[in-house]
Amino acid sequence: RRSDTLLLWFDGELAAADVMQAPLSTHALHYGTGVFEGIRSYATREGAAVFRLPEHLERMRKGAELLGLRFDAALATEATVQTLRANGHRDAYIRPLSWFGTGATGPSFGLDVSPLTQHFMVTTVAQRVHLSGERTRLTVSPWRRNPATALPPLKLCGGYVNSILAKREARSRGFDEALFVDEEGFVVECTGANVFMVRNGQVTAVEHRDALPGITRDTLIALSGAQSRQVTHHELLDADEVFVCGTAAEAAPISTLDRREFGDNPVTRELAALYARVVRGEEPGRSAWLTVV
Ligand code: PMP
Repeated sequence: RRSDTLLLWFDGELAAADVMQAPLSTHALHYGTGVFEGIRSYATREGAAVFRLPEHLERMRKGAELLGLRFDAALATEATVQTLRANGHRDAYIRPLSWFGTGATGPSFGLDVSPLTQHFMVTTVAQRVHLSGERTRLTVSPWRRNPATALPPLKLCGGYVNSILAKREARSRGFDEALFVDEEGFVVECTGANVFMVRNGQVTAVEHRDALPGITRDTLIALSGAQSRQVTHHELLDADEVFVCGTAAEAAPISTLDRREFGDNPVTRELAALYARVVRGEEPGRSAWLTVV
């Protein structure tokens, strides 16, 4: 890395992050018409490696297709690798974003996105800290999750307003994180993470049609042989261990769910440690999940 300026990828080339700007008429700013991903790279013996990059980009492609945004996975891969290399980042959080800009001839505030410009960026943030090991205090949210029938569980920018409302509300009552539960009492997910429980040694991944199909969730199912099924709020209160997982959170043990306190979490700790080895390329059988930069 040659200078101290952070570089990002914008519409086909690397640029200095601090000089880049978007017009105030940007459609995505007004209506949330964009799609993003949250991906991580880790320092491995082979250098920086991105964890499950194709799967993240495939989920982004689905969101882009739904919105009518062009998406080129090969280009997004190239942009990701180039941005990491240009910044010399190894342990990093990677944020690709694709969005609608303005009308080709000036501002366009209509809801028809077809005449709008389209943009694609990738920015990377050096990140060493991970939340594994920290214990999270969770509370059931009074808010409902966006139902999949109204807004599919993909990483659409506007959909995150729902998560932000729940996060704000949980924090206002002194908790770290909110748990979405549906009208029938089934657990959906957290604001930015999926939910697992452990009972009598059996690991269960919470399944719900309104929850984001998490890549960390999929990874932890593969590593633990967990069953995936619907889980009620009451079952969660009755579990021995509860943990949440996501790209940023990795596998984070829950210390309390409202007034229920969880004790030691040996299964979560073991699984989190295995996950940490897998993402760093220390588990030989799992190197296919890594894209070396
Ligand atoms: N649910 C939501 C709402 C999220 O934003 C995230 C983070 N992307 C997750 C679950 C976990 O998904 P992943 O493991 O793919 O990061």
